Amino acid sequence: MTRSILCFDIGGTSIRAALAIDGQMPGAVTRFDTPARDHAAFLDRLASLAAALPQRPDAIAISLAGVVHPKTGKLIVANIPAIHGTDLKTDLHRQIGIPVHIANDADCFALAEAVFGAGKGHDIVFGVIFGTGVGGGLVSGRRLINTAGGFAGEWGHGPVVPLMAGDTPIPHFACGCGLSGCLDTVAGAPGLERLHTHLHGKNDTARAILSDWQAGETGPARTVEVFLQLVAGPLAMAVNLTGATIVPTGGGLARNHALVAAIDEAVRPLTLSKPAHPLIVPAASGEEPGLAGAAAIGFQAFLPKER
Ligand SMILES: [Zn+2]
Repeated sequence: MTRSILCFDIGGTSIRAALAIDGQMPGAVTRFDTPARDHAAFLDRLASLAAALPQRPDAIAISLAGVVHPKTGKLIVANIPAIHGTDLKTDLHRQIGIPVHIANDADCFALAEAVFGAGKGHDIVFGVIFGTGVGGGLVSGRRLINTAGGFAGEWGHGPVVPLMAGDTPIPHFACGCGLSGCLDTVAGAPGLERLHTHLHGKNDTARAILSDWQAGETGPARTVEVFLQLVAGPLAMAVNLTGATIVPTGGGLARNHALVAAIDEAVRPLTLSKPAHPLIVPAASGEEPGLAGAAAIGFQAFLPKER
């Protein structure tokens, strides 16, 4: 039986949409501006895409840069007032009349990697994001360890940054989550820039820091060395805790495969399993992991639940 899932990847400025058919990766992508403030306009925009398809899709699946409150079902997505605090799943279902699935973007990334990407053939896949922040999602047996929310696998928060990297003091920077000393403050792209400023008093972009590191410049090399020291311990712990046998990485910093390889080299010796093959690897689920992961969630919802 042919199934089709209309997939959305919803961000603060734009929404990407694509149709996925019969368990495959989503096809051609349509982009449009996010109706940022008006909830009714937001619902109408998504509904109009569903209505424009030649055939009604079987479900809608959404990847979102936010989380779903596990009890109330309401979204926590501060940068999109049109849907922040709303029950988008219920509202969309009411308007369009087909099942609606919503998941956190890091979770969608992890599932996309498990089903279509670098995690294929692995039972436990821990997908991590080194982007504007540090995120993650956990998949076991091609299923997300998260039926609601989006908190599982979020290894970027918690006061874990060591106060010294070698003989260099590292401050506990305040984090957006309300704590301080979270990995998120030093290990995403803004975190790398913050570390570089702390160590050298320079305001360079993450891209420049990494390209200067690869060119062999000593200042950026020190920044990356400290970055690796701070990241490696928590990531090795996360690998031990989850039992993941592969850790696909996404987000802006992970586009630099030399950095991913350096993270892999730093982490593997610190894990209990000390695998001989690369453990921290670049993502391989294509340019639209949010859409791919949403598609996988949509298709899985039609499968019989395992006991
Ligand atoms: Zn935090």
